[in-house]
Amino acid sequence: MNIREIDNKYVANTYARFPVTLVKGSGSLVYDESGKEYIDMGSGIAVSSFGISDPVWKAAVEAQLDELTHTSNLYYTQPCALLAQMLCERTGMKKVFFGNSGAEANECAIKAARRWSYLKNGDGRSTIITLKNSFHGRTVTTLAATGQDSFHTEFGPFTEGFVYAEAENMESVKKLAQENSCCAIMMELVQGEGGVHALSKEFVNAVVEFAHANDMLVIVDEVQTGNGRTGSLYAFMEYGFMPDIVSTAKGLAGGLPLGACMLGEKTENALTAGTHGSTFGGNPVCCAGAISVLERIDDELLSQVKMKSKYILSRLEGAKGVKSVSGMGLMLGIECERAKAEVIGECMENGVLVLGAKEKVRLLPALNIPMPLLEKAMDVLVEALAK
Ligand SMILES: *Cc1c(COP(=O)(O)O)cnc(C)c1O
Repeated sequence: MNIREIDNKYVANTYARFPVTLVKGSGSLVYDESGKEYIDMGSGIAVSSFGISDPVWKAAVEAQLDELTHTSNLYYTQPCALLAQMLCERTGMKKVFFGNSGAEANECAIKAARRWSYLKNGDGRSTIITLKNSFHGRTVTTLAATGQDSFHTEFGPFTEGFVYAEAENMESVKKLAQENSCCAIMMELVQGEGGVHALSKEFVNAVVEFAHANDMLVIVDEVQTGNGRTGSLYAFMEYGFMPDIVSTAKGLAGGLPLGACMLGEKTENALTAGTHGSTFGGNPVCCAGAISVLERIDDELLSQVKMKSKYILSRLEGAKGVKSVSGMGLMLGIECERAKAEVIGECMENGVLVLGAKEKVRLLPALNIPMPLLEKAMDVLVEALAK
């Protein structure tokens, strides 16, 4: 059997994989088993922030592999402490909990919000407002938090205590807050899986003002938008407000599994010893990778992200077959005239890997994708869109 046959026989059927087996990569290039080269415009769903096997990242990870690979959270380790310090100093948040994924970062956010409310107001004020069309993860609780009916079947009973507001509709938010005992509102500032929709500043500012006037926390899910993706270190910085809780994961450790839930002034003491935990969370190797990633997300890199975003938009503006483009920074969605799957398939045939999100084609290249590769990828994509 070849790799695809073995995978289909032995790996659980949860993924509709593309018919490609990737065997190696370097930066924004990946290669399949036949040696065919592809320009990677998805970076493992916004994970490989500096591409595959980036030498600077690799050196940081390898150095840590030689020192200490795992200890559990029963002991202090340097990478975990220094990464938490770096995250707090660069965001203004106060404390960080480390897990291994986006869903876990969101689980922590939900637990912290509920416990904050419990300590402050007692039992019962536990409902969290999320937005329709959101995506917050695949655990039973984060599926419940996800504001899409299609995720709320077949795995019940789901965790109670989530209600779903219409994005861009403050009346909907206010009505839900009136009808329920809410402790928080949770949102992605750019809805990724839902089709790359950036929320408007007006709506986000109104939500923040309303939440804080009504003793509710603002949780932002930056699992996808975080770590430089939108052209700021975190997307909330583009919007100009301070959230109470920020979750992130995907690009944080540049290709290793690491999630973080950052707690602000109000919530920094919501979790105490024994109330939450993770065996792998804050693993020294993953944290060393993340420190290396964050150190390189500076103003220069962020301006490059914005410049490359503008370049992509300029190539798509008025291009044949393009109905609209949405998103921020290097997180962009293209509404196309052709079926999304046809565009993705044709790009793949011509050596470019792009993703989908709902009905759109989605671009999530490495933050440092070299301009010549980006130009080449856009040539292929523009041609596929025009057919
Ligand atoms: C990917 C994603 C998640 C889930 O992250 P996992 O690491 O797959 O658990 C949660 N929220 C958002 C916004 C995401 O994009």
